[in-house]
Amino acid sequence: MSKITFTGNKALQIEEALIFEVSDFSRTGVDLPAPTGKTTRLGGVARESAIGLPGLSEPETMRHYVRLSQKNYAIDMGPFPLGSCTMKHNPRLNEKMARLPGFGDIHPLQPEKTVQGALELIDTLAFWLKELTGMPAVAMSPKAGAHGELCGMMAIKAALEARGESATRTRVLAPESSHGTNPATAAQCGFTVDNIPADSSGRIDLEAFRAKLGPDIAGVMVTNPNTCGLFERDICAISEAVHEAGGYFYCDGANFNAIAGKARPGDLGVDAMHINLHKTFSTPHGGGGPGSGPTVFSKSLAPYAPVPNVISENGVYRLVESLQATGSEDDGVKSFGRLTAFHGQMGMFVRALAYMLSHGIDGVAQAAEDAVLNANYVLALLRKEMTPAFDGYCMHECLFDDRFLKGTGVETLDFAKAMIDEGYHPMTMYFPLVVHGAMLIEPTESESKHELDLFCGALLSLAKRAKAGEVDAFRAAPEHSPCRRLDETTAARKPILRWTPPPTVNEVE
Ligand SMILES: *Cc1c(COP(=O)(O)O)cnc(C)c1O
Repeated sequence: MSKITFTGNKALQIEEALIFEVSDFSRTGVDLPAPTGKTTRLGGVARESAIGLPGLSEPETMRHYVRLSQKNYAIDMGPFPLGSCTMKHNPRLNEKMARLPGFGDIHPLQPEKTVQGALELIDTLAFWLKELTGMPAVAMSPKAGAHGELCGMMAIKAALEARGESATRTRVLAPESSHGTNPATAAQCGFTVDNIPADSSGRIDLEAFRAKLGPDIAGVMVTNPNTCGLFERDICAISEAVHEAGGYFYCDGANFNAIAGKARPGDLGVDAMHINLHKTFSTPHGGGGPGSGPTVFSKSLAPYAPVPNVISENGVYRLVESLQATGSEDDGVKSFGRLTAFHGQMGMFVRALAYMLSHGIDGVAQAAEDAVLNANYVLALLRKEMTPAFDGYCMHECLFDDRFLKGTGVETLDFAKAMIDEGYHPMTMYFPLVVHGAMLIEPTESESKHELDLFCGALLSLAKRAKAGEVDAFRAAPEHSPCRRLDETTAARKPILRWTPPPTVNEVE
């Protein structure tokens, strides 16, 4: 980048070097006298050379990390329209609850009698997840959506093994529009993956789906509402057909925010479904925190769910951690085992339950309604200049294709980059794959009409500028960000993950 200022900074946009590059390795933030009169007990393993830690004073260290934190776009800074990600507001009440010492300062190896409240919380959250989904069992330990998928597909595999059919039932069906984690999970579990085509309305083609069923079907993985932001109208027919064919119905529940409190997957014939607490129940994700993907199970798969789970006997909570000790003796032998070292993401459990309890069942349902309303508002405003991929209303996210950019020379990527100059995080692009140049926008329920109007205003103005022939400006965007166009392919294919000290590291001028 050409240096327009002496420092290379642009006003408050500071050119931040790596912490190793700003330090001369000789400075230190603290002054402790070198220990004297002590003999080391490290024997032959004592370090012989300097460790090479960057040397910065305390204020310099503080500034470095605060500046880095400001380079991170966050839901607390502005709208985060990433489709399929449900980037919703993280209420501060949840953060406060998660920091209570009885939840925040405990250890998974503590004696059970000292963590009764935490176990009760896990049990209460499990109850509400089962209630909201209409499913009889839940595994709390999966640590993300993809991990929940793995949990569900491992339970399906265990159930097929118990039926003596694991060698014959090897094929899993997944729609073309599915999230990449679906086929990846099925493949990881040793299944082959077969695509279900979509019809012209963006939904599963029921006849094509039925034609793919057969005695080798292990199950189907369907996202509902799907990744085009549409409710699968034939969801009950799909579950009936897969059950008739002897397979199981895995539902990818990442989009549960659109239907929570409105429809129960258990009533739709689902056998297993993960819930992304970090999407639907507002716990921070992305750069903000770990995920959590509890997985609910139908009666037929419940016996195969992993350990541990929390049970209560006479008002005392207990963690069932070994296969032998699971529930009834019959269930115990069938569990596929253990998925994680401990019990799941405790901090996320606290936040998710705080969200649920502070909203109430009517509030959870209203969040779903408002998410759908907001997405349809965006769809209605943007269709003036942009091209919706499918006709009709959407659920919680709206999908556009790149027909409106035809002949302009501007592509979806350029359009997204220009959004950065307007101060917005781009929407999800080029996903789902069933739509050319896809732009998937999920506003979530917590955006106000004012925010949505401003956001849509920016996108409409960009669409007009693209059509007016400003292709060069789009190709050069983003213009105002610290970094301009990056070589994203090389960054992804050949990431440089390690800093190698220059040979002259100790001779900084
Ligand atoms: C987010 C998402 C996933 C994966 O969830 P992670 O928590 O990121 O692993 C799977 N499927 C769909 C449709 C999603 O939107």
